[in-house]
Order: sequence, then C-alpha cells, then structure tokens
Amino acid sequence: MITHLAYITEYMLRIVYILLFALVTTACSIDNLEPQILGNTMGTTYSVQWHPQDVSASQLKQKIDDRLQAINALMSTYDASSELSQFNQSRDTGWHAVDPTLAALVDLSAHIHQNSQGAFDITVGPLVNLWGFGPDQAEFSFPDDGEIQIAQRSVGAQHLMVRSDPPALYKNIPDLYVDLSAIAKGYGVDAVANIMEQAGVENYMVEIGGEVKCKGVGYHGDAWRIGIEAPNFERGKIEEILALDNIAVATSGDYRNFIEHQGQYYSHTIDPTTGYPVTHNLGSITVAHQSAAQADAWATALLVLGPERALEIANQQQLPVLMITREARGYKSTSNQYMRRYLHTP
Ligand code: ADP
Ligand code: MG
Repeated sequence: MITHLAYITEYMLRIVYILLFALVTTACSIDNLEPQILGNTMGTTYSVQWHPQDVSASQLKQKIDDRLQAINALMSTYDASSELSQFNQSRDTGWHAVDPTLAALVDLSAHIHQNSQGAFDITVGPLVNLWGFGPDQAEFSFPDDGEIQIAQRSVGAQHLMVRSDPPALYKNIPDLYVDLSAIAKGYGVDAVANIMEQAGVENYMVEIGGEVKCKGVGYHGDAWRIGIEAPNFERGKIEEILALDNIAVATSGDYRNFIEHQGQYYSHTIDPTTGYPVTHNLGSITVAHQSAAQADAWATALLVLGPERALEIANQQQLPVLMITREARGYKSTSNQYMRRYLHTP
C-alpha cells in the first residue's frame, strides 16, 4: 500500500505545536496568543504574529499575500505557468532569461550544493517526481532501479548554470528539472520578515510550513520560544525548545512527508548521489541561520548527509544545528556548540 501524507496535514501539525507551545509558555502574560495573520501558501500554511499590535493586520496581510503570490509565480513547480516551470518545460537548451530573484536563489542553491558535498541539489527534480513527491502524483508507482538510473541521467549540477547580468538560467539537457521546494519556503519567510521590518514592527514571528524567523521578544518579554517535535511517524511531541532572537530556524525531517511501501518508509528527501530517499537514523535536523532561505536549504542538505557528516559539515560552516536521531531506546538530541545559545533550559 502506498500512503501519501498531504502537505497541509504535515505542516498543520508543526504549526499546532508551535502555537501550543506559545500558549503553554505565555499563558500568564497575555490574552491574545492567536497569530494575527494566518494564510495559505506554497501548498502549506503560514502565520505571522507580532507585538505591540499597532500595525493594521489587514494591510499587512494584503502585502504579504501579494508578495508570496509573486514568489510562487516565479519559482513554484506546482504552478505550471511559473517562470521556473516554463524553464523546466522548455525543450530548448541554452540560456533562458529569468527574474533576478530567481537567478539569485539558484545561485545561492549552487553555493550550498558546493558546500554540502553535493547533498543539496536543486536539479534533483526528476527523482523527486519519480518518487511521487512532485506536483503530479496521479500516476505514481513504486520506481525500480532502472527507472531511477534513467532519472539520474537528468540530474546533476553540471547541467545547470546561472548568471546575474542579465539574469538567466542555462541548461545543457532538455530534461533538466529544477526544484526549489527545499529553499522556497525559507525564502518566503525572509520576504515576509522584510515586510514586517518595513512596517517598523519590533517583535515578530513569521512562519511558513514550520520554517520560522523571529525578531525581538515574544509576548512574555523573553526570546520567542519554538518547540521542536520528536521525529515521530504518528504524532509529534515536543522534544526540544529553542529560544530565538533575530534568527531563523528550519527543520527537515523524514517523518512527515513520506510514502510507505511494503512496510518501509521512504522520505521526500532524496540523496542525489544514490537516487534514493535518505535512509539513516537522523529523524530530523534543525538549522539556525540569519537567512531563513539558507536555514531551509541547509536543513535538507544535512538531512541527506546523515548524522556524522552533517555534524562535520555544520561545524565546518559554523552552522548551529540540533539533530534528533532514532536510537534503540527512543530519541537522542545532539546539538553543536553554535546551537547551544538557542537551547532553552526551563
Ligand atoms: P523539509 O521541511 O522536510 O526539508 P522541504 O519542503 O523544505 O521539506 O524540502 C523537501 C523538498 O525538497 C522535497 O519535497 C523535494 O522537492 C526537494 N528535495 C528533495 N531532496 C532534495 C535534495 N537533495 N536537494 C534539494 N532539494 C531536495
Ligand atoms: Mg526545508
């Protein structure tokens, strides 16, 4: 049997935990703890909360929705008419003019590809689609080795180039399929955070599908607190708490978006070197970074690498990370020296 867990369900759960935790920790200090803005974007939900409340929520929501729609129109692979989809659909090799934002995000992805020993790879799209995690999930059947090998021929950073002036993407094979799903939500969080900055909001928490950016303090006057759930296939429980100020965090996990086939779970994070979903005991990894886009992409990259190499590269890059591994007797949390300042000890 093949089970697809819907994105919405996946991220609703994460959000519930974020909210729940906010309630638990701040119940004494303030009455209104509902996010002032809730919406849908990128196949998931988003929320924004801030204080003091002297900025109009309806005006902000309009601006935020417009911005997120503009981002989707550039880079969503779920929108067949987006600029990225047009690039993917085109059979023409060579240069294709694109919006500077799209070129910049592809360029950032290329850097993370290099720095992650190839683990982060936005050309992984043909494999993502083959494994049934792409936009077209209608005709999914469990792939065999031959199909994986064929898809892998269209995957690889050597097939994609980017330039900024004039902004354009280049492909040398018609079947290249660029997938920005592992960085777009983070990019969206950065964009929404910029809107909050422009509006002069001092304290805010912006979240899209569980990727979060915080500024200032929470309602209780201390850092914003975020619950990181256990990498549990059934229901999450809070495993760790982070206290965040002026930083973004993203979590990648193998436990929310997966397929089940003959009793095995296959995650939507694909190791581009093997063509298969990742299969190690790293249940989730949380990365903190000034840029939510980078936190988002690095979380996926490090999940691909597995616990040992993830820690090695995170330390090399001075990236704060919190890993939750599955052990014989439950879960084990490991964080590096850069993450320690964000760990909340009650
Ligand atoms: P998570 O929060 O679990 O990281 P994301 O949506 O941020 O989930 O990223 C996972 C998505 O990234 C997949 O659904 C797929 O589209 C894409 N992806 C899968 N493997 C890779 C990879 N190795 N490099 C870049 N993107 C990937
Ligand atoms: Mg991610």
